[in-house]
Amino acid sequence: MANRFDGKVVCITGAAKGIGRQAALSFAAEGAMIIATDIETDAGKTLLADIAGRGGKASFAEHDVTSEDAWKAVIGDIRTLHGKLDVLINNAGIGMTGLIHEMDYDLWRKMMAVNVDGVFLGTKHALPLMRQAGSGNIINVSSVAGIRSTANFSCYCATKAAVKSFTKSTALECAEARDGIRVNSIHPGIISTAIWDTLIGTEESASSNMPRDATLAGMTGDAVPFGRTGTIQEIVNGMLFLASDEASYMTGAELVLDGGLTAG
Ligand code: NAD
Repeated sequence: MANRFDGKVVCITGAAKGIGRQAALSFAAEGAMIIATDIETDAGKTLLADIAGRGGKASFAEHDVTSEDAWKAVIGDIRTLHGKLDVLINNAGIGMTGLIHEMDYDLWRKMMAVNVDGVFLGTKHALPLMRQAGSGNIINVSSVAGIRSTANFSCYCATKAAVKSFTKSTALECAEARDGIRVNSIHPGIISTAIWDTLIGTEESASSNMPRDATLAGMTGDAVPFGRTGTIQEIVNGMLFLASDEASYMTGAELVLDGGLTAG
């Protein structure tokens, strides 16, 4: 299983923390050259040091996925330095809750910009470079929220359903073009990362009665058939599979990793 990604160039957005960070560590451990991007530069540099400390190869770019100019710069640098892009993981995302009639329009648009525009822009600028090589792999991080809607989460659910739908259109365009590019979405269930901080409080939040992990575990006990949150590595394992040749017949698909949450 080791080194499935030797010689592969893998770009991961939102890689400074959470699922993206662990994806960067895991792909690097299997031989990939990582281009990690994020708006959080300090955490991005820590990631670089961690990958280097384990003998991996990586670079970091400060990159806001909502900026088309920033995307042009990131993909342009990859073209110049590496001449190809094997895997793009559109992972950057933000979450927020709120009742529709109280929701601030600027916040709505910000979430659409990060979660949806970011995926579109990354795909738009990565495709020409992948097509040049005649192969490529795009993994878009959606959510169970892109499959099943919930009250109080309308904007997040709408963004993640858009990612799911856009993934399928992209997969079909690539299949029609016979360009060797596979495109799939991944749908994590409830995973303890900082994305929950704005929703239920941080690990050490003084205003929260319970730490984030305990709160999530409580929510999960009732909602998730497995009775537990998923681990970050369980989501990353799905990314490794989708990006590998083991998934060679898979495109336009939804890989759901949710402990049964959406099964019932
Ligand atoms: P996280 O908050 O730990 O990581 C998200 C990363 O995205 C952060 O490093 C953040 O700096 C970065 N980011 C935010 N805005 C950005 C922007 N404009 N440009 C570039 N980077 C930006 O959260 P996570 O849980 O690791 O989330 C990763 C993905 O997984 C997201 O798309 C999220 O919606 C999705 N997801 C998470 C869960 C969960 O329970 N944690 C469930 C389903 C889906």
